[in-house]
Amino acid sequence: MNSELYRFTSFTSSNCYILRPFNDDVCFFVDLPPDLDEPINYVKKNNLSIGGALVTHGHFDHSLGMVNFESKIFMNLEDEFLARNPQEQIASFTNNFIQSETFNGEIIDVNTLNNDLINIYHNPGHTAGSTSFEFPDLGIIFTGDFVFKESIGRTDLKSGSNSDMISSIKNVYSKFNKDYEILPGHGPSEKVSIISKENEFIREYLND
Ligand SMILES: [Zn+2]
Repeated sequence: MNSELYRFTSFTSSNCYILRPFNDDVCFFVDLPPDLDEPINYVKKNNLSIGGALVTHGHFDHSLGMVNFESKIFMNLEDEFLARNPQEQIASFTNNFIQSETFNGEIIDVNTLNNDLINIYHNPGHTAGSTSFEFPDLGIIFTGDFVFKESIGRTDLKSGSNSDMISSIKNVYSKFNKDYEILPGHGPSEKVSIISKENEFIREYLND
């Protein structure tokens, strides 16, 4: 399938992706970092229409842009409290460097998204509602802060759980197609087969 993918890396180091699954003028955002201006400009410049945003989890570096986003937002509702209360996270990470506005719009339960284009995986551990989005026809998986190229998401933050992370790796990650490409919430992309071989955290948890 012919598709197009644009990646923007926020000043918070998180990745925002804009996917045009059919290479037509309809695009979908994956994650909404605080500084959405450049991705929104990309949309305008290319005369795209926005189908919606898939948010991998509720941390502010992936969701603070919700206040500036004017289309449907899908997320696992277990992370809604994080996305709607970002100032506590911001305080602990940036010394209140960013002042947040509270998002009062609608967050749609990602599990109501049901179609042939996308598979939704719940992979708690980094946060309770952490979610991966797989586009099987494109061979790509957006993992947020679940799995990175060389590490995995931390589990010591609010609603994080190390035991949930281990079972997500054993029960979700282990079923990912080896030939698919992982597009993480931070850092570069990599193939599942390479990550399974070279990421020491994944190797350890898959094999123990
Ligand atoms: Zn996170």
